[in-house]
Amino acid sequence: MIEIKNASKWYGEFQVLTNCTTNIQKGEVVVVCGPSGSGKSTLIKTVNALEPIQKGDIVVDGVSLTDPKTNLNKLRSRVGMVFQHFELFPHMSIEKNLAIAQMKVLGRSKDEAYTKGKKLLERVGLSAHAHKFPGQLSGGQQQRVAIARALAMDPIAMLFDEPTSALDPEMVNEVLDVMVQLANEGMTMMCVTHEMGFARKVASRVIFMDKGEIVEDCSKDEFFSNTENRSDRAKQFLSKIL
Ligand code: ATP
Ligand code: MG
Repeated sequence: MIEIKNASKWYGEFQVLTNCTTNIQKGEVVVVCGPSGSGKSTLIKTVNALEPIQKGDIVVDGVSLTDPKTNLNKLRSRVGMVFQHFELFPHMSIEKNLAIAQMKVLGRSKDEAYTKGKKLLERVGLSAHAHKFPGQLSGGQQQRVAIARALAMDPIAMLFDEPTSALDPEMVNEVLDVMVQLANEGMTMMCVTHEMGFARKVASRVIFMDKGEIVEDCSKDEFFSNTENRSDRAKQFLSKIL
């Protein structure tokens, strides 16, 4: 579903990704962790073609992102992305936030888009808030709206970049619960997160990055239980967060 093949990327002279290779199958949940500045956000953005790579290739659902003939906007509309800061449209009601891209990008009718949005709001437990504006919701609620908005596009995969790290601790679980539910329903997910409880619960694999490289890419059980086999860099990181 998501094939990252020897991907390298530079910001000017600075190499931010070095020969990253991994293959995410349909239905897999892959957690990406690693120290600050290791390239996690950059890697996840390359999968949505928000950042181009300069070497290698990334193939999403059979479509190469480096092929000049690929329609990147079309691809982006099919891969959901949820960021650390919820990035809802502040001047639009919650229901309009959920509907707007469905109408503008997918050409759905207003009726269809609002009906779909309503269903998804229900699913994330926020039906009562359809007419409010983002600023009237808590961070955890806004993040759940952001997830619902991404799901409204019927994505083939979902990318998350530290979706809970800007939240007050008491709101982290309500967002993780939605993500766990998604994972259990078989959504293909790539999640940058340091929530190792989430990783233990639903991850198929854990990728550990350091200095722009994928240092570890192994099953969840291997990552957590076989810690003596981990690289020194991963051990050092794990000792700080576990
Ligand atoms: P964090 O855990 O802090 O979110 P990260 O692993 O997500 O870190 P990235 O945001 O991918 O790391 O950044 C990787 C490196 O690339 C960092 O050294 C960062 O300073 C650099 N970088 C990121 N974006 C840019 C940019 N637009 N221009 C230049 N350098 C950048
Ligand atoms: Mg980041």
